[in-house]
Amino acid sequence: MDYSKKAINLTPSVTLAITAKAKDLKDQGKDVVGFGAGEPDFNTPQNIIDAAVKAMNEGKTKYTAASGINELKDAVIAKFDRDNGLTYKRDQVIISTGGKQCLSNAFTALLNDGDEVLIAIPYWVSYPDLVTLSGGVNVFLETERANDYKITADILEKQTTDRAKVLVLNSPNNPTGTIYTEEELREIAEFCRKRDLFIISDEMYEKLIYGEDKHVSIASLSEDAYSRTLIVSGLSKSYAMTGWRMGYAAGPKDLVKLMGNIQSHTTSNPTTFVQYAAVEALNGDQGFISEMNDEFRKRRDYMVERTRGMKDLDLIYPKGAFYVMIDISACLGKRYKGNLLKDSIDFSQYLLEDYLVAVVPGQAFGLEGFVRASYATSMENIRKGFDRIESYLSNIS
Ligand code: PLP
Repeated sequence: MDYSKKAINLTPSVTLAITAKAKDLKDQGKDVVGFGAGEPDFNTPQNIIDAAVKAMNEGKTKYTAASGINELKDAVIAKFDRDNGLTYKRDQVIISTGGKQCLSNAFTALLNDGDEVLIAIPYWVSYPDLVTLSGGVNVFLETERANDYKITADILEKQTTDRAKVLVLNSPNNPTGTIYTEEELREIAEFCRKRDLFIISDEMYEKLIYGEDKHVSIASLSEDAYSRTLIVSGLSKSYAMTGWRMGYAAGPKDLVKLMGNIQSHTTSNPTTFVQYAAVEALNGDQGFISEMNDEFRKRRDYMVERTRGMKDLDLIYPKGAFYVMIDISACLGKRYKGNLLKDSIDFSQYLLEDYLVAVVPGQAFGLEGFVRASYATSMENIRKGFDRIESYLSNIS
């Protein structure tokens, strides 16, 4: 069969082998410490679960408008007003099956074959493949360690191509946990204005910030930025709702309309009773988020301290999300039990095989010399995992 080249050319996940191996080891009853998780280890708050059950009992189990129910669009509009000082109308908002579907709809609606999308390295794993599936071409921006791998106007100036159409921004960032300041975003917005670039701003981790930093949406910086930005967000991370598949996007109404048309033919509306649960999540008590963040902050601080305490490790200081990008470059080129550690995959593989600790190799995010460790796991696991990493490092020379 002559399958689709787009599908065949999707990047096989470099993490797949490690994840499969971790699962095998767990199935064999081994005590694996998993630092790979991309989801909070908390259960969804009870008020949200109750709202879903109530909706089901009330018969909210039929199709809705493909782009989502008005109650939820209004809750999203109220959230943007409250948290970001942004004003949207219903026809500028779409509800989708996860932020992932918002991104997929957006790339499909924005890109013609060959249009280029600017993506900073390191990047969240799905952006490049979503762009490829939409017929776009990825242009990866080389960023700098000195600036915590953030995009700057200077980087954009030097690396933007003539066919570039869209810039993808992600703050707080997965995998680095870094956050863009208002000033940094202003420079980026100004560059996008000059070069007429559209901006997709992935603000999925907006609520997961642990220090003084404030989340600023680039769309809130000027009329121009507002008119050229689609914000993509969702409930997966902030409300521990990964499995519910609930995301939303807001931006120019022409684009949102096209995204709605696409969605109407691919999946139709996101699950009806989940939409009602999402209204409760956004409008109800927000106390859960600060409780979860207090716990994440403690774990982040502990992981940072342990990492900094190990001679051959360093890190990018994470201010948000729930990941630490650990710099393992000092270990590469050295040997573990006679085996050369040539890259982050080798490093992660031996760590898993011999010490039962699963991390994600930096290669998955386009950045060699790092591994990503998620702190969406208990403090007990984190302690145990870092003790094991310490033993592993003592055998690398
Ligand atoms: N964007 C980023 C940066 C993410 O890390 C994720 C999930 O891992 C998503 C978007 C998509 O999340 P969901 O589809 O669960 O809303």
